[in-house]
Amino acid sequence: MTERELLEKIKASQYVVALTGAGVSTESGIPDFRGPNGLYSKYPENVFDIDYFYADPEGFYRFWREALFPMSEAKPNVVHTLLAELEAQRLLKAVVTQNIDGLHQKAGSKNVIELHGNIFEYCCAKCGRTQRFETVKKLLESNPVLRCNCGGLIRPNIVFFGESLPMHALSEATLHAQECDLMIVLGSSLVVYPAAQLPIIAKEHGAALFIVNRGRTGLDDLADFKFDVNLSDFAKELMKHLMKT
Ligand code: NAD
Repeated sequence: MTERELLEKIKASQYVVALTGAGVSTESGIPDFRGPNGLYSKYPENVFDIDYFYADPEGFYRFWREALFPMSEAKPNVVHTLLAELEAQRLLKAVVTQNIDGLHQKAGSKNVIELHGNIFEYCCAKCGRTQRFETVKKLLESNPVLRCNCGGLIRPNIVFFGESLPMHALSEATLHAQECDLMIVLGSSLVVYPAAQLPIIAKEHGAALFIVNRGRTGLDDLADFKFDVNLSDFAKELMKHLMKT
C-alpha cells in the first residue's frame, strides 16, 4: 500500500480516528521513550512512576527541569500539521494522543483527546490548588522541589505510571474507538495500556487498522497494514496528495 492509497481509504471512510504516540514528536526535538535516542536510554525507567515522584521529588524535578523547557517550546512538525489539515478537511474526526506536549493543538487540531494529561497544567497533590504554568516555570528556576503554600508537592497534571487515566478522556477515546471505521496509529510502540487497548476495541467493532511506526509495535499482527517508515517522510507524501485534491 502507498500513502496515496491510504488517502483514498481515508476519503472512503465515514469515521476516521488517529491515535498518536511519542514518535510523532521526535522530529520536533522531543525524545520518545523506547526509540534509539529515547528517554529510557538516558534516565531510569521509573522516572515517570508515581511512587518515584513521591519518594524522590527532587530527582523527578531535576529530570523535569531538563525535559520541560525543550518540550514546552517545541514546534509542531509535518505529522502534526497533516493531522490538523485532515481534520480541517473533515476527513478526520479526532486525534487521541498519548503525548503530553500539546503539539497537536499548536498545529491547529481542534478535537484532541489527551489520554495522559499535559505539561502545561499543575496542581497541588495535597490541597488540589491549581498553579499557572508561568508560575511553575519561574519557581523551577530557583527551587529544587515545588511546594504549594499548604506544604504539599506541586505536580504536573500528567498521568504517571501507576495512576489511572482521566475518566472523561478515556471514555471519549473508547467511544471513538467503538464508532470509527478506520483507525490510524502513528508513532507509538503500543505497549502502554490502556491506550494500546483502543486499536483492539476498534478492530473488535469492525474498523480497519493502519499502523505507521518505524520498528515493531505490540499490535503489528492485528493491523490491516503497517507502514514501517519514517513518519515525516510518510506525512510529507500524504500531504502532497491531500493538497493536490
Ligand atoms: P514509545 O517511545 O514507546 O514509542 C514510540 C515509537 O515511535 C517507537 O516505536 C519509535 O521507533 C517510533 N518512532 C520514533 N520516531 C519516529 C519517526 N520519526 N518515524 C517513525 N517512527 C518513529 O512511545 P509511546 O508508544 O507513545 O508510549 C510511551 C509513553 O510516553 C506515552 O504514554 C506518552 O505519554 C509518553 N511520552 C510522551 C512524549 C511526548 O509528549 N512527546 C515523549 C515521550 C514519552
